[in-house]
Amino acid sequence: MSKTEPSVFTRIVAREIPAEIVFESDTVIAIKDIAPKAPVHLLVIPKTQQYRNVAELAAGDPALLADVVAVAQSLADEYTDSEYRLVFNTGESAGQTVFHVHAHVLGGRLTEGSLAE
Ligand code: 5GP
Repeated sequence: MSKTEPSVFTRIVAREIPAEIVFESDTVIAIKDIAPKAPVHLLVIPKTQQYRNVAELAAGDPALLADVVAVAQSLADEYTDSEYRLVFNTGESAGQTVFHVHAHVLGGRLTEGSLAE
């Protein structure tokens, strides 16, 4: 792998940056989004930062993508009425700001100026 700087999420995994962690396994971490766009807004993040987006993750490690989706569902069962949006922003113009793949789990109505734009 190239000499990439650790992403903000890698730094959260390493406990260099604080976050409200709601789930953690050997391969996945889930946190509350720092700027929530819905009443429930969680991020489910593979610990590895080698995949920049969901298509790379699907191609490179489909089992890990399946784990991300399963964690999203179980968090939605815990934090929402089990109905939710699962969003993977892909590319800057689509609103992606962190190029370390992550799923947004959004429960309840989206707020203005949100991912729905
Ligand atoms: P993207 O825009 O790349 O799809 O999503 C990145 C998300 O990460 C944004 O919703 C943003 O609010 C969240 N985020 C960025 N930095 C931090 C941080 O330091 N802590 C937490 N908890 N969330 C962050």
